[in-house]
Amino acid sequence: MTIDTTTREPVLNIDRDKCIGCMQCVEACLSEARAVTGQELTLDAIVKEAVADRLFFENSGGGVTISGGDPLFFPEFTLELARRLKDEKVHVGIETSCFQKWEKTEPLLPYIDLFLVDIKTLDPIKHKEIIGWPLEPILENIERLIESNANVRIHIPIIPDFNDSEDDFNAFIQYLSKFADRLVGVDILPYHVYGERKYDFLGRGDTYNYKNIRQVQGKDILPLAWGLKRAHLASVTVGGLVGMGAEKGKKPEKKEVMA
Ligand code: SF4
Repeated sequence: MTIDTTTREPVLNIDRDKCIGCMQCVEACLSEARAVTGQELTLDAIVKEAVADRLFFENSGGGVTISGGDPLFFPEFTLELARRLKDEKVHVGIETSCFQKWEKTEPLLPYIDLFLVDIKTLDPIKHKEIIGWPLEPILENIERLIESNANVRIHIPIIPDFNDSEDDFNAFIQYLSKFADRLVGVDILPYHVYGERKYDFLGRGDTYNYKNIRQVQGKDILPLAWGLKRAHLASVTVGGLVGMGAEKGKKPEKKEVMA
């Protein structure tokens, strides 16, 4: 415990390097100020839980999306989970960075109904510098998925001063137009500040690098959205909202339930 030099109030400090995650403080705190978030589940338990919601899936036309992090960092587990869900006739989506060897992605093809893949920028230098790994393997894998006739939706997270310039938009439109008749669609996801609260919640607010970043306005996104529509992309959504002719999508589209 330290004392705030301005208010003279005690400040609770947690040394996260020493915490072993035993959760005894959750039990001990009478004010219920601490809580367990997340749960470790076996494969059987996940499948059981997903199947228990079958009625909901069937009514909403949705399914299960395997998400993360990147589930392909656990390729065997993800493959087995997808296979088991498919056996149960559940629609299976996966959110992946596609930054993996193709050998880890290809076995999933029979079991995944929808691949959701981010493209954050098409500038290879910026990708390497800011994202931290090369762009080329991601595009190669996306193109292999498309060649394999997989259903692919591209997500474009728009981050101010990173990928919202006219050049960035033109690069997205030019690249994606090559696959206009083979992509399920494109979702434009304007940057939002929800991450800041999560960092604060984890006591890591001081490491959040996007604190004072400006918000993306709808009008900032329109040139990209209309450019993609003009390039005949079947389904373009903004901020997760279906519109821009998405209902006329050329490939059958499912609404996914994150799980
Ligand atoms: S009691 Fe709480 S803070 Fe201490 S090690 Fe266990 S989980 Fe971490």
